[in-house]
Amino acid sequence: MKGVCVLGSTGSIGVSTLDVLRLNKACYSVVALTANKNITRLLEQCVEFKPQYVVIPDDTLAAEFRILISSTPALCTEVLSGEKSLEQVTELSEVDIVVAAIVGAAGLLSTIAAAEAGKRILLANKESLVVSGDLLLSAVNKNNAELLPLDSEHNALFQCMPAGYRTGQKAEGIRKIILTASGGPFLNKTVNELKHVTIEQACAHPNWSMGRKISVDSASMMNKGLEVIEASFLFNLCATEIDVLVHPQSIIHSMVDYIDGSVLAQLGNPDMRTPIAHALAWPERQSSGVSALDLIVNNQLTFQEPSYERFPCLRLAFDALEAKGTAPAILNAANEVAVDAFLSDRIRFVEIPVVIEKVLQEMPITAAESIADVINIDAEARARAIAKVEAFK
Ligand code: NDP
Repeated sequence: MKGVCVLGSTGSIGVSTLDVLRLNKACYSVVALTANKNITRLLEQCVEFKPQYVVIPDDTLAAEFRILISSTPALCTEVLSGEKSLEQVTELSEVDIVVAAIVGAAGLLSTIAAAEAGKRILLANKESLVVSGDLLLSAVNKNNAELLPLDSEHNALFQCMPAGYRTGQKAEGIRKIILTASGGPFLNKTVNELKHVTIEQACAHPNWSMGRKISVDSASMMNKGLEVIEASFLFNLCATEIDVLVHPQSIIHSMVDYIDGSVLAQLGNPDMRTPIAHALAWPERQSSGVSALDLIVNNQLTFQEPSYERFPCLRLAFDALEAKGTAPAILNAANEVAVDAFLSDRIRFVEIPVVIEKVLQEMPITAAESIADVINIDAEARARAIAKVEAFK
C-alpha cells in the first residue's frame, strides 16, 4: 500500500486522481487531502476516502469544517489549518506519493516541501516548476525525490524518453521534443474576434474539462507557453529544442524526435486519468478507467503551426525562457493576476498579454538564488500587474 497526499483534491486534477485511487483501492491509502474553498466537496471526499488529515489554509473555514466533520459519524480525520500545514502533510512518514495539484504559484512551497522530504511528486502544478525550476529540481536531486509529470504532454514525453530516464537529465540522442497543443477554444478566431470573447467562451475547452485558470491559459495559449518552460526544466532542453505543434484533436499528447529520424509519440483519449494512473504506478501500469483509443473513430489527426500573432502569450513565454533567471517567475505572476482580472470581468481577453508584457518590460531579470528570492519577485510582479489592470479601468 502506498500512502498518498493529494494537494488540491477538490480541483479537476484532484478529483481525477481520486477516481484513479478508487479504481485501484488495494494499492493506495489516502493519507491527506487539501482544499481551499470547496469544503462541501472536501467533506464528500473525506466520507469516502477517510484520510488521516485534511488541510484548509483559512482558519475560519477550517473551524467550520471541524464542526461538519464532528457531526459525521465514524470520521476521525484531523483538520489542519494555516499555509504551513500544506507543507507539513507532504512530509508525513505515511506519505509516499504527493500529488501536487494546487493551481498557481500557491502550490510552490508545498511542492518544494515534498521534494525536500524525498517523496514521489506527481506534478500537475506546472507553475511551481516555471517559477523555481532550478531550485525545485535541485531539491528533488538532493533529497532523492522523484518528479513525475502529470501534464499530459510532459507525461507523454516522459513515456517516450529512453529507458531508465529520470526527469531533469539530458537524454542522449534527442533532436527535439514536439509539444502538441489543441489550440483551445479560439483556435480559428481572428485578432478582431478575440477582442470580444467572453469568460464563458474562454472556459469552454473543446477537448479537456479543467479548472478555470488553466482553461483561460489554454485559450490564450499561455498554457502552452508555461508548458514550454516546464518542459525545458523537466527534460533539460533549451528553447530551440522545443517545438509547439497545434493538433486540435488532442490524441497525440506529444512527441520526441530522435537524431536517427525516429519520432516517438504517446497517444490516448484526452483524459487526465491516463497520466495520473501512469505516474502513480510507474514504472508499472495500472487501470485508469479511461476507454481504449479507437483510431477508426478518431481517424483525422491534423497538425498546424501555432500563430504567435493571434496568441502573443506563447511568444512571451518563449522570450521569458530565453531570458532565463527570474523572467519565467515574472511572466507567471503577471499572468495569474491578468487571468484573475479577466475571470472577474476587469479586463478583456486580449489585454492579458498586454499586462504581462508591460510587467516583463518594467522588471529587471536577475538570478533567483533561493525560494525567498522567488517569492519576492512573484510579489513584486503581482503588485505591478495589479497596477496595470487598474489602469485599464
Ligand atoms: P482547479 O482550479 O480545478 O483546482 C485547483 C485546486 O487548488 C483546488 O483543490 C483548489 O481548492 C486548490 N486551491 C486553489 N487556490 C489555492 C490556494 N491559494 N491554496 C491552496 N489550495 C488552493 O485546477 P486544476 O485541477 O484544473 O489545475 C490544478 C493544477 O494542475 C494547475 O497548476 C494546472 O495548470 C495543472 N493542470 C491541470 C490540468 C487539468 O486537466 N485540469 C491538466 C494539466 C495540468 P478549492 O477547489 O477548494 O477552492
